[in-house]
Amino acid sequence: MTATSPYVRCAACQGTGRWAGMFHRGLCAACAGVGAVFEGGAPIAPEEAVLLLRQQLNERNDQLRAARAELQRLRPRRSPDEVMREAVYPSGSRYHGD
Ligand SMILES: [Zn+2]
Repeated sequence: MTATSPYVRCAACQGTGRWAGMFHRGLCAACAGVGAVFEGGAPIAPEEAVLLLRQQLNERNDQLRAARAELQRLRPRRSPDEVMREAVYPSGSRYHGD
């Protein structure tokens, strides 16, 4: 679903691949749960959908990895003493340094 992709977001489910009613939910019938269709609305064949979804999963994993690295970079560094003071043992007690 990039500029060169032949796929567009499924209008029936807004790209979620599912529908939800008041009491039931399920896969979108228009896109068979893929969340994308060919331009014009034709559903994507399962074999092709697997590749598309794998590609989207890889992209999301890359984004998640980058976000975790950024979070790690922004997190303040703590000394080993600070880490020990915050640790709670199974007994519910804490380390007090003695
Ligand atoms: Zn759909």
